[in-house]
Amino acid sequence: MSSTKETVLEINLAHLAHNFKYLKSKVAPHVKMLAVVKASGYGSDAAVIAKHLEKSGANYFAVAYVSEGVALREAGIKTPILVLHPQPVNFEKLIAHTLEPSIYSPRTLQEFIKVAEDKNQKEYPIHIKFNTGLNRIGFWENDIDFILEHLNKTQAIKIKALLSHLAASEDHEERDFTLGQINTFKNIAQRLGKQLGYQPILHQSNTSGILNYPEAHFDMVRTGIGLYGYGNEAKFDNQLKPVASLKSIISQIHKLEPGESVGYNRAYKAPGFVKTATIPIGHADGISRQYGNQKGFVTINGEKAYIIGNVCMDMIMVDITAIDCKEGDEVIIFDASSNAAQIAEHSGTISYELLTAISPRVKRIVIDKM
Ligand SMILES: *Cc1c(COP(=O)(O)O)cnc(C)c1O
Repeated sequence: MSSTKETVLEINLAHLAHNFKYLKSKVAPHVKMLAVVKASGYGSDAAVIAKHLEKSGANYFAVAYVSEGVALREAGIKTPILVLHPQPVNFEKLIAHTLEPSIYSPRTLQEFIKVAEDKNQKEYPIHIKFNTGLNRIGFWENDIDFILEHLNKTQAIKIKALLSHLAASEDHEERDFTLGQINTFKNIAQRLGKQLGYQPILHQSNTSGILNYPEAHFDMVRTGIGLYGYGNEAKFDNQLKPVASLKSIISQIHKLEPGESVGYNRAYKAPGFVKTATIPIGHADGISRQYGNQKGFVTINGEKAYIIGNVCMDMIMVDITAIDCKEGDEVIIFDASSNAAQIAEHSGTISYELLTAISPRVKRIVIDKM
C-alpha cells in the first residue's frame, strides 16, 4: 500500500459506482436517478463524479447554484442539469448553458418568464418547486392559480417537472409528518396535472426518502449523500461505501512534561507525560474548530488519536501517547473504516457538513480501479 506524503482527499470511483448501483436497486426500473453533485460533489470533485455517473446511467444532475451548473457544462457534461436554488441575476447564464431552473416563488417565476421571453425561448423546461413542510423555498399549494395564470400568458416556458423536498426523511419519529408531505405533493401534482393536460415528471425523495419511503419515489429520485457513501443510519451505512478518504501525515512529534500546554490560548494542558503529533490540516482545509478539544479524532496505525487544543488554520495536534508511530506515518482523518459520520457525530454535526467543508486547498486524487 502506498502511503500518503501530504494531505490529500482520495475519491474512489469504484465506491461511487457501488453506491449508485445500490441506490438504483432500491427504486423501480422506471424511476429516473438524479445525482446531486452540488458543493463540489459533497466536497469531492463535481466534474469527476458527474463524468463517472454519466457513464453509469445517471439520468439527471442537480446543483444548488448556476455557477456550479456552468462548471459542469464546461467540463463536458451533456445530461440535463437541474439548478435547485438559482437567483434571477443568473437566469440568462442558466439559459445560455441549457440548465433547468427550479422555480420556487412568484418572484422567480415572473423573472424567469421575462428572461426566457427576452431570449426568444420556446417551451424552456422548468421545474416547479412546492413547499410541503420544509418551509425553506417553494410555492405553496394555493399558488397553483398564480402559476397557471402566468403560464397561460407565455410560450417561452414549459413545466417539465414538479418537485418538493422532504424535511425529515431520515427521522423515523417524523413518519406521520413525512407521509403528510408526500400526500400534499400528490394532491398538488394531481391538481396541476389536470389543469396542464399532461403529467410532468414528479420528484420528491432525497437519499433517505429513497431508503425509507418507496411511496415517495414517483418518477425520479434525487440522491446526494448516499452516492458519497452515507445513509444517515447504520444499517444503510453498512451497505454503502464512503467515496472520499481524507488522509495526511505526521509532520512532527513532541514529548510534553505534565502541565505543558498545546496550541493557541493554551487550550490543552498535559495531565501527565504526553506525546503529541502535529498534522498539516486545519480549519482552512475544512477541519473546523468544532472538532478541537477532544471532539474530533484521527486514526494512526489503526488507533484513535483525539485532537487536543484548538484547531489552527493549517494544523491540528493530536494525542498519540498510547500509539506506536513516527514522523512521516500516515494519518487517516476519515475513510471507509473510520468514516466521516462517526467523527461528525462525535463532534455534534453530520457527515454532510464535514464532507462539504473540505477546501480546494486539499489536493484531490482520483482512484479509478476496481
Ligand atoms: C441537497 C438536496 C438533495 C440531496 O439530499 P441528500 O440527503 O444528500 O440525498 C435533494 N434535494 C434537494 C432539494 C437538495 O437540496
